[in-house]
Amino acid sequence: MSSSSTTNPPPAPAAVVPIGTQITLSSPPDDFHHHFRDGPATSNVLEHVVHQFGRAIVMPNLKPPVTTTQMALEYRERILACLTSSSSSSSSSSHVPPGDAGDDSGCGSISATTTTNNNTFEPLMTLYLTDHTTPDEIYKASATNVIYACKYYPAGATTNSDEGVTDITKLYPTLRAMAEVGMVLCIHSEVSSPSTIDIFDREKEFIERVLIPLVHDMPSSLKIVMEHISTKEAVEYITNSAPSNVAATITCHHLLYNRNALLVSGIKPHYYCLPILKREDHRLALLKAATSGSSKFFLGTDSAPHAIEAKESSCGCAGIYTAHAAIELYAEAFESMGALDKLDGFACHYGADFYGLPRNDNAGRKVVLEKKAWMVPEKYKFGMAMVRPLRAGEEIAWSIFMDTERIANKILEQACQRNQMINPNNDDARVWNYSRPSSRFIMQ
Ligand SMILES: [Zn+2]
Repeated sequence: MSSSSTTNPPPAPAAVVPIGTQITLSSPPDDFHHHFRDGPATSNVLEHVVHQFGRAIVMPNLKPPVTTTQMALEYRERILACLTSSSSSSSSSSHVPPGDAGDDSGCGSISATTTTNNNTFEPLMTLYLTDHTTPDEIYKASATNVIYACKYYPAGATTNSDEGVTDITKLYPTLRAMAEVGMVLCIHSEVSSPSTIDIFDREKEFIERVLIPLVHDMPSSLKIVMEHISTKEAVEYITNSAPSNVAATITCHHLLYNRNALLVSGIKPHYYCLPILKREDHRLALLKAATSGSSKFFLGTDSAPHAIEAKESSCGCAGIYTAHAAIELYAEAFESMGALDKLDGFACHYGADFYGLPRNDNAGRKVVLEKKAWMVPEKYKFGMAMVRPLRAGEEIAWSIFMDTERIANKILEQACQRNQMINPNNDDARVWNYSRPSSRFIMQ
């Protein structure tokens, strides 16, 4: 991807903070939309995820899709099995891209700093809604306390969605059961029929044709998430019209790229995703929403790996892989808006609050991001195949340090030694700390 993408760089971000600047997120962030896949590739994906996130909503569009409570529990066990094999005594993990092209080590273990035994990563399971999902299945899922949401794919809308919902009104009893037990409805918000609707208009049409009537018909206790919004119409709907029980996730690739990345100077399959990248005015609307400080918008990467051969094909799969560097890519986007102080809420708080989950603040780890460029490998191991990550062969401006309190203290200590004030409004500050006011790391 490097050679092609460098001919078509993304819209230039404004450089608003100096090299070496560090910011601290108050906890490992949450990803409210992630594709872990299944089989050997899951371990490779998890290697990246645990370096980026504390929790993640696990998308259910496997083959076959995760349609029952039992299937979700079994999938969760397979994910946890990938997480339990290693527990290092190391107290921190700088950004070390694991499983790169030269790494031929097995794919059955993870060199994560810590494991689920320490509650440092938790997969949040979901069910895949079909025309036949019953209220009883919802009650059963809710009783497990590990299944948090159901995903509504309009049939045929995206990868592995053929068994999705053909008519959402048929599922109203099921959705009411979800409202009753507090289970979140996640929606791939694009119409899939009639097929004549232009691919760039499918999200906008979904809002008018499906979402507004659905929100009207459902009780306000049903929490609804428009996943991976991609248009200014979605931003306007969430901001100005949607009630408080409706929110949206935004991906880092929709914040950083417009459709030129996909289509100018040759077609670039690794920028193909659904919803498809849109015009620049839509990207700017998404950037403004994500960095607005509104709790109705929060982080969901929709990181969706496919083997390189499945992307570089005459009929390439939809999906962009960002698990290797998601929070660093979000940092680039937020920096471009001069809004790094809004990243903590977007990445660590608003999604948890909406889902009714406790914030991760007690996890005992913080995340330090440093304005320090690193080169993304051309590919990563992905089961028996390889996956091309976003920004392959190119630099990312920020580096992550999945952190312990020790490192946060060290950074603060160094700042004190330099007699620097921590001030998010001061562009010259070398160390910013966006922890909550209760944090002992805030310098008064
Ligand atoms: Zn997705």
